[in-house]
Amino acid sequence: MQSADTPAFAAGAVDVIPIGGVGEFGMNMLLVATGDTAILIDAGVMFPEPELFGVDLVIPDLSALDGYRGRIKALVLTHGHEDHIGAVAHVIGRIDGPVYGTPFTLALVEPKLQEHNIDASGRLIQVAPRQRIAIGPLTLEFLRVTHSVPDCLAIAIHTPAGVIVHTGDFKIDQTPTDGQHFDLHRFAELGSAGVLALFSDSTNADRKGVTGSEREVTDGFEEIFSSATGKILIATFSTSIYRLQLLADMAEQFDRKLAFVGRGMQQNSQIAQRLGALTIEPGIQIRDSEVHDYPPADVVCLCTGSQGEALAALPRIAIDDHRHVHLSPGDVVAFSARNIPGNEKAIGRVMNHVAKRGAEVITDADKHIHVSGHASAEELKLLISLVKPRFFVPIHGEYRQLARHGRLAQAVCPGASVMVIQDGDVLRFEAGGARVADRLPTGRVLIDGTRTGEIGDEVLRDRRHLAGDGLVVAIVAINAQTGAIEQDPSLITRGLAADVRNDAMLKEAPGLLAQVIRAAPHEERSDPGLLKERIRIELQRLFRKRAGRRPFVLPVVMEV
Ligand SMILES: [Zn+2]
Ligand SMILES: [Zn+2]
Repeated sequence: MQSADTPAFAAGAVDVIPIGGVGEFGMNMLLVATGDTAILIDAGVMFPEPELFGVDLVIPDLSALDGYRGRIKALVLTHGHEDHIGAVAHVIGRIDGPVYGTPFTLALVEPKLQEHNIDASGRLIQVAPRQRIAIGPLTLEFLRVTHSVPDCLAIAIHTPAGVIVHTGDFKIDQTPTDGQHFDLHRFAELGSAGVLALFSDSTNADRKGVTGSEREVTDGFEEIFSSATGKILIATFSTSIYRLQLLADMAEQFDRKLAFVGRGMQQNSQIAQRLGALTIEPGIQIRDSEVHDYPPADVVCLCTGSQGEALAALPRIAIDDHRHVHLSPGDVVAFSARNIPGNEKAIGRVMNHVAKRGAEVITDADKHIHVSGHASAEELKLLISLVKPRFFVPIHGEYRQLARHGRLAQAVCPGASVMVIQDGDVLRFEAGGARVADRLPTGRVLIDGTRTGEIGDEVLRDRRHLAGDGLVVAIVAINAQTGAIEQDPSLITRGLAADVRNDAMLKEAPGLLAQVIRAAPHEERSDPGLLKERIRIELQRLFRKRAGRRPFVLPVVMEV
């Protein structure tokens, strides 16, 4: 039972195309196509870098899927992290079939679809490890892997060209908190039966050794719980259910009440409890509104905001702007999460505010209170040696992690061909070989607000300009008939430095602008569009020449 191949398809070519997540971190999405059947694996987002002003989410450019209209028969989700499910609502319209995932993964997808008013409840189909599903000439087989959230899957795709194994995100946790072990046996079986290609998570390919079990943080937290005399606040990701379980158990052990603070914490801890992924002894959990009913030494709060997100729980608590939870001297605030690159400043600010309130800041640098969910070099090598693929394709990582992972594979399996590909490459498996046969367009789409519009480059350029140089609004009242200026233009500024040169410029500018308008030809003065352009160019020139500044100029022409 190694494959669902039928002779009719034995010579069929299979294309594998990363739409996102190869050559970058986040927005994981992989298309697998053969004949007129295609499936999509994962539909993730990337969190915006700080220079993408006001952008809430980044999703992959989906135009590569245009050529597969009507052929994508399923979306298969490996696990419930945002970089794998965050774009489901944006992609589901292009899928002609179900969305497969484990119960926990689908429970995290549901509220996202509701937010977008998408009713897909009939299309969300639960799957379990070792289950098989046939989709046209493809048979998907699900395998359990361990990671930092419950219910994670790898997928073995039995295709006409051979078996393709996609690991999803994983580490090899030998002592998983929920007792659900990595299915090393099945990976090994597939390997001895023969695997065409292995697509594997490269996130931590540049880390030596092994990553370590989720349980490794126990000692660090025990030290905190046994020495803290005030409240304990812990910031972590709300999807890190294993971490929540460990801390809930510790709350019970150390006789503290446990409160989930922040919307994501409350939502995800509820989902996890409903599904049995998180068990809290009766009498332990309290509401965040009840925190001040207990002595500080009797409470632990699990908070959102580990990345310094301004509106999340911990950053609000840190500036004493939370309705229910307040910090006092003697409290301890522990950061139990990795700092996503780009967030360091925001996180540092939160830590400063926490310290100002007299509370103690504890990070992974002080005590071992965070462990990664991704496999390090030795685990990656172990998996490669079990699977023994003919072709090895590193995914999930920037180019340097992909290259490093490729070298690891080469060292373990000298006979394997390493294919380091990028988003948009059409990797074609055919007649026992593999090659990049084509390239499809890829890129990023920026989403502003959680439900609406895409943002173009132009908008982003304006936002960058505004942030860097400030804004000058010039208001000019013009007589619609004569084109004469009714009164001197007025200027409103935002974000412009209050210095001598700017001040002088602002005093002079209205008069200079009035002169320029009076000197302009009548046609220009009576055409608001032309006049705006004239004002814009003139003001930009003045600011550049006299003050050495390049503010964003927004002309407003009122016809009176
Ligand atoms: Zn993950
Ligand atoms: Zn991931």
